[in-house]
Amino acid sequence: MAQVSESKGGGPVIVEAATPPVCVSCGRLITPREKAVKFLCPNCGVVLIWRCSKCRDLSNPYKCPNCGFEGP
Ligand SMILES: [Zn+2]
Ligand SMILES: [Zn+2]
Repeated sequence: MAQVSESKGGGPVIVEAATPPVCVSCGRLITPREKAVKFLCPNCGVVLIWRCSKCRDLSNPYKCPNCGFEGP
């Protein structure tokens, strides 16, 4: 008895463009006024990595959520 089960749900995923950036090192929300830096992951080049000014000052390490690359 082989029955193909219907897969339901899974509508279109809406990504909000207004999602505020989050520092990848400390997880804090980055305000537009802050002197944060953003750059593409040097390894995979897919993920936009944000770092707040504090983490930049402290050279806190970051980790790419896509490929797992860690860098200073
Ligand atoms: Zn930070
Ligand atoms: Zn990456």
